[in-house]
Amino acid sequence: MPSLKALIVAASFAIVGTAAAQTPAQPAPPKLIVTLAVDQFSADLFAAYRQYFTGGFARLLTGAVFPSGYQSHANTETCPGHSTILTGARPGRTGIIGNGWSDPRAKRDDKDIYCLEDETIAGTSSRKYVVSPVHLRVPTLGDRLKAAGTGARNVAVSGKDRSAVAMAGHNADEIWWWSRTQFVSYAGRAEPPAVTAANAALKQLLSAPRAPSDLPDVCRARDRDIPIAPKITVGRGRLARDVGDTLRHQASPEADASVLDLGLQLVKDMKLGQGPATDVLALGLSASDYVGHVFGPGGTEMCIQLLALDQLLAKFFTVMDATGIDYVVALTADHGGQDVPERNHLHGASDAQRVVGDLPAAKVGAEIGKQLKLKGPVLYGDPFGVGDVWIDPALSKRQRAEVLKRALAFYRGHRHVAAVFTREDLLAVQIPRSPPDEWTLIERARAGFDPERSGDFTFLLRPRVLSVEATSQPYTAGHGSPWDYDRRVPIVFWRKGMAGFEQPFAVETVDIMPTLAAMIGFPLKPGDVDGRCLFGC
Ligand code: ZN
Repeated sequence: MPSLKALIVAASFAIVGTAAAQTPAQPAPPKLIVTLAVDQFSADLFAAYRQYFTGGFARLLTGAVFPSGYQSHANTETCPGHSTILTGARPGRTGIIGNGWSDPRAKRDDKDIYCLEDETIAGTSSRKYVVSPVHLRVPTLGDRLKAAGTGARNVAVSGKDRSAVAMAGHNADEIWWWSRTQFVSYAGRAEPPAVTAANAALKQLLSAPRAPSDLPDVCRARDRDIPIAPKITVGRGRLARDVGDTLRHQASPEADASVLDLGLQLVKDMKLGQGPATDVLALGLSASDYVGHVFGPGGTEMCIQLLALDQLLAKFFTVMDATGIDYVVALTADHGGQDVPERNHLHGASDAQRVVGDLPAAKVGAEIGKQLKLKGPVLYGDPFGVGDVWIDPALSKRQRAEVLKRALAFYRGHRHVAAVFTREDLLAVQIPRSPPDEWTLIERARAGFDPERSGDFTFLLRPRVLSVEATSQPYTAGHGSPWDYDRRVPIVFWRKGMAGFEQPFAVETVDIMPTLAAMIGFPLKPGDVDGRCLFGC
């Protein structure tokens, strides 16, 4: 029998416990925000694999889980997707409307513009560009913290320049991305010892081949040959690599490992999370995107990649724990993805198909130009796959109207096109306040429409039409559509000791930044961002 005193003590603890639950003290802000963007990590992949995670993802699943996060815009590419995560703004406001766009008035021969370049620099082109944040029209969270004079540091490392720049923004203390064989940054930036060491390690790594990965048991059901085209078969890969094969390096967990390792070293060397204010570290994990593009997300290749990433994240968090820093993690993706139609046919999606090659604006413009006896390109379209199309500004008003009429008729009559919207159509609609899973197609397109930068019209593909042709080596699959397999991504927050929950309702990736801002008590003015704080507000 417990003593009366023990019972009274227990009862008083229970009362204190209840009172604490009713009026929780606001926890101190975390000292470091770690944002992880897993490239092409669709909500569908998250749903398929979450039952198998035992490492870092399993830890994150004990936090705040939003399995239906939305990159709510139509043009679900890498650059616009990353631009939403730490700005709290949709691409129509960030200005990053695609991985690239056309600017027929650009003062250089190449009218294609890469999303994060400075095309005003002499001698550049969209293929040989100088990386720059000039097109990003809004500040990131790191930019805002620095502008407020908090003493915060803003750091990004990624497998891709567009991921690093779109998450760090305009004012990064350190920003490094993989290019060809090593981590690089803006010209003239001093290389810290962590980067020198990371590049030496990469050189060593690439000088030896990578052995095939063992196949985890849970991947065995996916181990099946899927023929795509003569000499192209996917589905049974083990992510092996020859000496110096940088594409296979990027399409394997070793690429993500190098980003995570460099991120950790910068945390230590810069003493991130130990300064006067909350610091921001953004890490772009790009390997899953290359795996998805090269092999499609439905085979052993993605299975091996995601289970390996789960273990890499476990290691990353263990090292972070050992620093003693109070950090919060926000994990999401820049977009989802679609499997190869050849495998989809085996899995109940008999209507999945690849796009035919007659949609690019240059081809359509050449045909209309021939019909109307016009000189010049007539139509400009993005070479990276954006649906936007620009009419040559050199045409007369009358020629322009006739070109637009014929182009709209072509795209609206095409069997692969779901919808075509002109800029007038888009200017006439508002981005709705309803949840993003309920948006119409034009509302999705409107969220990524920048009145100054976007095309004269945009076309959207029908569902399950993959924008990658079978012979588009080395890629067999992709993303970029306005459909939920490309728009829907997981959003997960985790912090030591937090009360976890799962919210199945649709939210947006633009909600991440205001949620983090609220967590660290950083004020945002009404209308500053497109997103809203999700919890702890
Ligand atoms: Zn991407």
